[in-house]
Amino acid sequence: MNTFADLGLSESILKAVSEKGYETPSPIQAKAIPIVLEGTDLLAAAQTGTGKTAGFVLPILHKISQAQAGSHKGIKALILTPTRELAAQIQQNIIDYSKHLDISSLVVFGGVAINPQINKLRRGVDILVATPGRLLDLCEQRACRLDKVETLVLDEADRMLDMGFIHDIKKVLRLVPVKRQTLLFSATFSSEIKAISKQFLYHPKTVEVAAQNTTADRVEQKAYRCDAGTKSDLAINLIHENKWDQVLIFTRTKHGANRLSEKLDKAGITSSAIHGNKSQGARERALAGFKKKTVRVLVATDIAARGIDIANLPHVINFELPNVSADYVHRIGRTGRAGESGEAISLVSNDERSFLRDIEKLISKKIPLITEPGFEPKLWPDRAPTTSEVMKADAERKKQNRQQRGPRSGARGGAKKQPSKRRAPSSNKSSGDKPSSSTARPTSRRRRPDRSSASRRRSQ
Ligand code: AMP
Repeated sequence: MNTFADLGLSESILKAVSEKGYETPSPIQAKAIPIVLEGTDLLAAAQTGTGKTAGFVLPILHKISQAQAGSHKGIKALILTPTRELAAQIQQNIIDYSKHLDISSLVVFGGVAINPQINKLRRGVDILVATPGRLLDLCEQRACRLDKVETLVLDEADRMLDMGFIHDIKKVLRLVPVKRQTLLFSATFSSEIKAISKQFLYHPKTVEVAAQNTTADRVEQKAYRCDAGTKSDLAINLIHENKWDQVLIFTRTKHGANRLSEKLDKAGITSSAIHGNKSQGARERALAGFKKKTVRVLVATDIAARGIDIANLPHVINFELPNVSADYVHRIGRTGRAGESGEAISLVSNDERSFLRDIEKLISKKIPLITEPGFEPKLWPDRAPTTSEVMKADAERKKQNRQQRGPRSGARGGAKKQPSKRRAPSSNKSSGDKPSSSTARPTSRRRRPDRSSASRRRSQ
């Protein structure tokens, strides 16, 4: 299959694809499109940046357009995604690919008014892209019915599980017809993903485009050893010295993202921070500025950055390393997209050395560890601290921070905070200077969230 025409897609779709400038199907598209067209369930391991969105959107559009004459009203395809950004991105792709077709689509997510979404749903849509919490809210309010869904897509399913959406996904699965086509996309095939695919997919065909957990070969990876306290200056130095004009930086916490963004601005580097505490409007403005290059650096927490698709993003900086190695793969997948090359830089302090080791093990590749002159770490003993030593030190540090801050007067929304109550792990959606899910320590990572669906929906 060398061309999109070979895949049997309709003329209108071929025209839209060619107007997007795509010449040939990417490997995931070449493999997935025929499977989706024949109606079989699909379990696909595809990293971000491989073109997976068109891999499911194009055949869905083809099927809906072919069946349109006399077909029923109602949502025919439902695409579930973990974040607002990814949902908006997919919707934009659907608009682009369906521009020569008479197919309606809508995106719904939390954090914005629900009534306009209800009104649009009443007018009828063929394809709905949604985050799980808002979708369930809409279903509860009887604003949307899923009983005509023919194709269900679970996109970035691994991330949805990480974010604690498993119960919401199960609820959605009870609302769609038993007889349907299910397509599950995930960056990795973890045992959890295998388990849910066994439960919800029917004799799926499996497609893997890159070897499991390997990083994109086109991304040049480097790590700088440094002290934690010099990271901001090192990042500023690298951006200035190398004259980078578009850099995505991942930080561990929302406050960390804000702090770094302020420092960058002071150093004359325009930047915006995006994370779960920012309004949808602020996130969209930040992203738009970054895409237009009026903002040079976008500082983001993991979950906020999910779904960001910027053509040819040249540089990604991991301000802190994630302790969940697969998240490193997700992060650096933001660069080196669609055949372009990219560079991923990690700033590694002494207590992150074990994370670096784990990442190298996962990607089966040694990441060159270098030192920037003037930023040599004061603390870098021959023996790297073990993970348990790092966790112990981290717990101690947090305890000291808590003691220094003293009791907090109130939690979000004015409610009194329960001092002993533990909060959910997908923490960059909760308030406070708490690590995002990918940098939370392993013990907390495994806990399933216990926060109410209402609070989760607010933060989606
Ligand atoms: P995705 O993995 O779906 O997020 O896509 C990553 C990027 O690749 C997006 O910017 C797409 O517009 C682009 N893309 C998708 N398919 C192709 C293709 N066949 N040729 C070139 N670029 C593509």
